[in-house]
Amino acid sequence: MMELPLIKKTAQIRQMTLPTPFLVGPVNTYLIWSDALVLIDTGPKTEEAQGQLLRRLREMNLRPKDIDRVILTHHHPDHIGMTHVFQEHADIIGHPKMEPWLRKDMSFFEERRTFFAGFYRQHGMPENWIQEIEQGNRYYMKYTEENRFDGSLQEGDEIDGVPGWRIIETPGHAETHISLWNERDGTMIAGDHLIGHISSNAILEAPYEKNKPRPKTLLKYRDAMKKCRGAAIVYPGHGEDITEPDRLIDERLHEQTSKAAVFKKWLEEKEKTAFEVCQQMYPKMYSKQPALTFSETLGHFDLLEELGEITSREENGRIWYKSV
Ligand SMILES: [Zn+2]
Repeated sequence: MMELPLIKKTAQIRQMTLPTPFLVGPVNTYLIWSDALVLIDTGPKTEEAQGQLLRRLREMNLRPKDIDRVILTHHHPDHIGMTHVFQEHADIIGHPKMEPWLRKDMSFFEERRTFFAGFYRQHGMPENWIQEIEQGNRYYMKYTEENRFDGSLQEGDEIDGVPGWRIIETPGHAETHISLWNERDGTMIAGDHLIGHISSNAILEAPYEKNKPRPKTLLKYRDAMKKCRGAAIVYPGHGEDITEPDRLIDERLHEQTSKAAVFKKWLEEKEKTAFEVCQQMYPKMYSKQPALTFSETLGHFDLLEELGEITSREENGRIWYKSV
């Protein structure tokens, strides 16, 4: 097995990189060592990740019970999978929207499944792809463990036991996403909000409250990136440290508007559904990653609509897009 070293970032911060079974590769978890010991993210629920996590802790003469608090940046399995290792002694905390994910609330999952089935149909996705996506979601759930949720963190909250650190809400990649911001030195621990070597996807989500419109995740993601300008260094959930975060933010914002222009081209000659354009834009990839490619497509449609570049209309339960 690949051994990923323990990395000392500052006197206060250690990085523990853990293997994941996912395409994204290893995940970075962080330990803030202050009056309290706070772990940021846990890695997925796999034997390999758990073995590595325990070894890294041992190298610092720590045991899981020494961790006072586990803060989860967002609800994806590579970040929340191993909360059970710490549940006996640590508070498990995150954004309020994290609760049903962590508790594995079956009615919440069923509501989302129903929402997405109807939603994908509206956008022209055939049934076999809808089922494929549902299957994929069940597969990811295997890498998390049901747990309790001990408290929520929201915009501006201080973190008990680690003076100087505050929570900054960074929705987009996930509706549950929060980052940690050190106001003294501009350090940010950003989960998957900013990643250097790949662009983080604004994944589609269902509304958290019944009868509310779905969140436009790419638009939220862009706002949350703009909000994070001015950080000195960003420690991400995957890959290397980001030493020029403002430059990366500008690059990402620009990439999105350029990509939106490419999406718009597909809508020039005639009206289409989002799924049709998704297939044209990603002729090979859409069948391997239907949820992700569809998220990308619709996210950029949301952006184009906001910019007044395309319009949509509904007819017989189907949504059609056209460039203006
Ligand atoms: Zn991740």
